[in-house]
Amino acid sequence: MIRFNVPPYVETAAGYIQECIRNEKICGDGAYTAKCTKWLEEKTSAGKVLLTTSCTHATDLAALLCDLKPGDEVILPSFTFVSTANSFVLRGAVPVFVDIRPDTMNIDEKLIEAAITEKTRVIAPVHYAGVSCEMDTILDIAKRHNLLVVEDAAQGVMSTYKGKALGTMGDFGAFSFHETKNYSMGEGGALLIKDPAMAEEAEIIREKGTDRSKFYRGQVDKYTWVNYGSSYLPSDMNAAYLYAQLEVADRINDQRLSSWNRYYRNLQPLADAGKIELPHVPAECVHNAHMFYIKAKDITERTALIGHLKENEIMAVFHYIPLHSSPAGKHFGRFHGEDVYTTKESERLLRLPMYYGLEPETVDRICDAVKAFYA
Ligand SMILES: *Cc1c(COP(=O)(O)O)cnc(C)c1O
Repeated sequence: MIRFNVPPYVETAAGYIQECIRNEKICGDGAYTAKCTKWLEEKTSAGKVLLTTSCTHATDLAALLCDLKPGDEVILPSFTFVSTANSFVLRGAVPVFVDIRPDTMNIDEKLIEAAITEKTRVIAPVHYAGVSCEMDTILDIAKRHNLLVVEDAAQGVMSTYKGKALGTMGDFGAFSFHETKNYSMGEGGALLIKDPAMAEEAEIIREKGTDRSKFYRGQVDKYTWVNYGSSYLPSDMNAAYLYAQLEVADRINDQRLSSWNRYYRNLQPLADAGKIELPHVPAECVHNAHMFYIKAKDITERTALIGHLKENEIMAVFHYIPLHSSPAGKHFGRFHGEDVYTTKESERLLRLPMYYGLEPETVDRICDAVKAFYA
């Protein structure tokens, strides 16, 4: 069976984890957390990066830093993972969903302004498949309406928009290092903060509402409870697992891109024949080959294609039941405007196997199976 995902692993990780154990430093904010943080800050040029226990928790932290009041509104796409909405719902805010663009599956920037009310506080764009949203437009809207921007860049590590790292253009950005992402620590993530002046407050919330981070840096001589907070520090062993990948991030990225390009070239004739649609990457965007998806005609064809691939021992998956049609989405949020593409396009989308270590021959075999289905 060709698996859909294989968690990334780089062999140096085992030695790094042993080092944590030998040094008896397995809790958060150890040497490997520092190394990952430094790498991420240098790579992205974010004002400040904090490693977290997940992207969900990074978004929770961002939502806390946005200081939302119950009833405040957050504009986001409905075609996304639940965490993008949940973090704001936990603060009592109302998710206001708007439609996506069919070419990138990202929030349609042209529909955002019409969804703004006097209660809107945040725009939360999601960079689907590591391909950036139209950020210049979104940032301009945010500026004119005095809104915060929280980027869900879970899938966007190593991707850029006009040369800028995803997650660094809004006030806050969130990365995921879940095992299904390009770089992984099992469960983990990072919060990217634009304004370094917000970093101290973020550190306090991440450290149970205490100023322990300052204490470790020798800036205060004891630490104490100074604000509300929770615990968002990953174990340094997880950071060690991740760091091994970050050290060879270019190699991982190049390999994923070559798999992606191979899929694209292989399947181009099917797209030219009008049988399927291939992903679109706007000229301003450099992507990270987080996923390779195709679009079938409709849900019936997609279901048949998944079955056909399964018979050929290939796992292919789809995702995101649009949030506005889920029970919690209906309860907590609302859709603004018309759902022209969200449901229709999500029902056509099919993700093909994509992981670090995917062999070119395997990509060819998968493409052959897709072509056989349409023959
Ligand atoms: C994976 C993902 C998340 C959640 O990441 P975790 O690290 O598992 O919390 C959030 N948003 C999007 C778009 C994702 O793909």
